[in-house]
Amino acid sequence: MAQISNHMATAELQALDADHHMHPFSTQAGFKTKGARVITRASGTRLWDSEGNEILDAMAGLWCVNIGYGRDELAEVAYRQMKELPYYNTFFQTTHVPVIALSARLAELAPGDLNHVFYAGSGSEANDTNIRMVRFYWAQKGKPDKNIIISRKNGYHGSTLGAMSLGGMSGMHAQGGVVQNVHHIDQPNWWAEGGDMTPEEFGLERAQQLEKAILELGEDRVAAFIAEPIQGAGGVIVPPETYWPEIKRICDKYEILLIADEVICGFGRTGQWFGSQTVGIQPHIMTIAKGLSSGYAPIGGSIVCDEVAEVVGSGEFNHGYTYAGHPVSAAVALENLRILDEEKIIETAREQIAPYLKQQFEALVDHPMVGEAKIVGHMGSIALTPNKETRAKFAAEAGTVGYICRERCFANNLIMRHVGDRMIISPPLVFTRDDVDLLISRARKSLDEAYAKVKAEGLFVAA
Ligand SMILES: *Cc1c(COP(=O)(O)O)cnc(C)c1O
Repeated sequence: MAQISNHMATAELQALDADHHMHPFSTQAGFKTKGARVITRASGTRLWDSEGNEILDAMAGLWCVNIGYGRDELAEVAYRQMKELPYYNTFFQTTHVPVIALSARLAELAPGDLNHVFYAGSGSEANDTNIRMVRFYWAQKGKPDKNIIISRKNGYHGSTLGAMSLGGMSGMHAQGGVVQNVHHIDQPNWWAEGGDMTPEEFGLERAQQLEKAILELGEDRVAAFIAEPIQGAGGVIVPPETYWPEIKRICDKYEILLIADEVICGFGRTGQWFGSQTVGIQPHIMTIAKGLSSGYAPIGGSIVCDEVAEVVGSGEFNHGYTYAGHPVSAAVALENLRILDEEKIIETAREQIAPYLKQQFEALVDHPMVGEAKIVGHMGSIALTPNKETRAKFAAEAGTVGYICRERCFANNLIMRHVGDRMIISPPLVFTRDDVDLLISRARKSLDEAYAKVKAEGLFVAA
């Protein structure tokens, strides 16, 4: 058997990786010609790779390492929990201390009467739960045909069959298997789709598509609307100010459930504990994962309001995961929440860092290739464009320029992702002012290099 260690030569590790490890959301064959970067350790806001490079992580892993890397407390809690009770299920009238403590804590933190938690191993699983739960809820109320879920194009709700069907990622849908009775409306992406409308007009128009859909499909057919308070994987799309108040009005008017997918927005990313608080909504269900454990252990779930929990709880809901409320993950999540709270990480991020980050990040709009730069709390994006005035797309295939820019970031030891031709950040909430300065200087350098390359290759052309 191969002995793998961090001390193996990088090329050897990359060859084994290319041969035997199938990567998510990747063209596997590509790893043969260009090996994956081997990340070996991390601390605070920094990663190190097998070549000894120190990298600034402006994505918090995959939007999840909210408290930063290297917190021994979480490792110690996991170690103690594994020795005490490494696993037990919660199916057959049993429970355990970590899951009880975590549930009670989440009920305290979540706004309003969101007091009940159904656990999953990930955000995708939790959204699969949500599909089944809202349908079961309406069936229990004698309305089994109220089973359509409305969601948004370019929304992201995960990668399992159910979750990807809720999501509106055309590349995922094109690969097949979408579940029935999900209806997609357009996203509130003013930059790309707003045309001649003002952002305010456009926000209203996009929200009113929900009302149109409910009326077309029939209120007696629509079970729920699901959305991310601020779209993450779709490119950090900050909706116009008019959008969420109008969605709220529509949800209040019609008898449908509102599911806020808080997998990214939750646990401080937008400056409050939950994105719902930032955009001013009170959902019936919130999907949680990622920042719940700061990514130190896999865990997700649905936080459910009193009325839905009562109706669902009045019958046998035939659904559950072996690892639901896993004791080690639950203990780690609870410790993560303790640190976020006691060290005032969310308040500090919001009050000390976010205003400076916003000022610096949004100033990137002065770069010749940047058309829009927007950030809310610690999630932000910039739109790359060949023409700021007309908000034009590049003539090249979407993502070509974004990829060039990401490559330059990677080469400059900055983790910043691209979604199409948008560059996105989601830094750990423990980012300091110095981290912000480093982020901006590396981002500017990368943008300059990408701009030079795009021009040299004749790609700085509007579609
Ligand atoms: C990442 C994500 C998910 C899926 O979570 P996984 O843990 O990857 O299954 C769901 N919803 C949103 C908004 C996400 O960003």
